[in-house]
Amino acid sequence: MKNQVGRRGFVRTAVAGSLAGTGSAAQTKNSKTYRETLATPVVARHQVVVAGGGPSGVIAAAAAARSGADTLLIERYAFLGGNGVAGLMTCYNGFRNQRPPEALQTVKGIPGEYIAELVRLGGVADIDNYERTVQHDIRKGDIPYTVGFDPEAAKIASLNLLRKDGVKMRLHSWVVAPMMDGARVTGVIVESKSGRQAIAAGIVIDCTGDGDIAALAGAPFMGPAAQGDRMPMSLMYRLGGVPSSIKGPYGGIRIGDRVTRWGPGFGGDGADVENLTRAEVETRLKLWDQVQEMKKKAGLESLYLLESATCIGVRETRRVEGEYTVTEKDAIAGTRFPDVIAISSNPMPSYRGKRYFFQHEGFDIPYRSLVPKKIEGLVLSGRCISCEQGPFQSARSMAPAMAVGHASGCAAALAAKQGVPPRKLDVKALQNLLRSQKAELRA
Ligand SMILES: Cc1cc2nc3c(=O)[nH]c(=O)nc-3n(C[C@H](O)[C@H](O)[C@H](O)COP(=O)(O)OP(=O)(O)OC[C@H]3O[C@@H](n4cnc5c(N)ncnc54)[C@H](O)[C@@H]3O)c2cc1C
Repeated sequence: MKNQVGRRGFVRTAVAGSLAGTGSAAQTKNSKTYRETLATPVVARHQVVVAGGGPSGVIAAAAAARSGADTLLIERYAFLGGNGVAGLMTCYNGFRNQRPPEALQTVKGIPGEYIAELVRLGGVADIDNYERTVQHDIRKGDIPYTVGFDPEAAKIASLNLLRKDGVKMRLHSWVVAPMMDGARVTGVIVESKSGRQAIAAGIVIDCTGDGDIAALAGAPFMGPAAQGDRMPMSLMYRLGGVPSSIKGPYGGIRIGDRVTRWGPGFGGDGADVENLTRAEVETRLKLWDQVQEMKKKAGLESLYLLESATCIGVRETRRVEGEYTVTEKDAIAGTRFPDVIAISSNPMPSYRGKRYFFQHEGFDIPYRSLVPKKIEGLVLSGRCISCEQGPFQSARSMAPAMAVGHASGCAAALAAKQGVPPRKLDVKALQNLLRSQKAELRA
């Protein structure tokens, strides 16, 4: 039976039943495929389902719930925070341009509240390795270019934000496929220790970083940049026992005697399981040896490997094609769009081999870059939005990713509550809602 989306965006009817995974063994004999026949139970229905609990997903879920939608956040890991926490990438970059002109704090609203919660928890770093030409005081809500943070505090700050806004959570759950009705996404299929289950949704937001839902739904996407230009993966790690006699950040992000550092890198496709496996094996072995070498240096005997990231950090995979693709020209010129929903002021860190600082306070991200081509019922968010590689390098940073999350959450809530496809959403109403939640969209 087909799913039917009702006036308020709920799925009214769906296949219900037990998990009945059956297939034909004979099919495997000479064939390279195995045909599964599954009747997947629909275990829940929500107006908005957010797939992925990284910086973009956490803010998107909080924004959707605050905007009045019954919201569920689904995450494959047991904790929230995405690459910032699982990948130990512990500095939120891009709250404003790193260098003048930087007077405008381009990321505010719910991301700003999240940072205030981190500050309240004492989860902000003492020092990091970023140069500073202008000082800002985070403790007064004046957020600087970057915020170094404690990943444990980030887990708690994320939970506090979501609980305050009444977001429902489902951890330990991989989203493995979208539910589809023609070209419309009507929910997601998850796999977990509870088996394979379906969760129906009015609107799904793809916050998986890799654009998993969009790609599986059949949305066209741009691959990562060509080998050589593609931003590599890196295994981050934390050292403990860094002596106080060593001044400065010790090449990373420092809290007391703990320093987060950039570890060994690896190339290739960050969405290919065999390449990911090779990357984890090689970089972890290399990291262990590097730390043993460091400890041999005079004065560094007390160092130890406190932890390596849960998983290698993947910088660049799919960017989904949207109704508008933000171009390198837009980023450099600081193009303004009438349908602006967020601003990215973060530099492009490896633009033609160098860190490129904008000569303006940030370029606009238009709502159209969150609306995938061809697919309905889906909103893009975080690092998979529609951008060329230059603007991607900027907007993938966690502060702009949070600002985009704020917008995708509000957009999904409006679309689900009004029963309107995201493509047809009244952008003025979205901008008014974002402004009422203190997002920065400029005049
Ligand atoms: C090595 C490295 C260094 C970086 N340096 C910086 C830096 O200094 N500052 C900065 O601001 N940014 C930095 N970045 C970029 C930044 O971390 C990411 O671009 C950013 O985290 C993207 O946010 P996101 O929410 O879109 O995705 P992510 O942070 O990747 O979050 C995606 C979430 O979705 C979950 N997920 C994925 N697929 C599924 C699925 N199928 N089902 C269920 N859950 C799923 C993941 O577990 C994760 O929690 C760096 C990235 C890397 C890799």
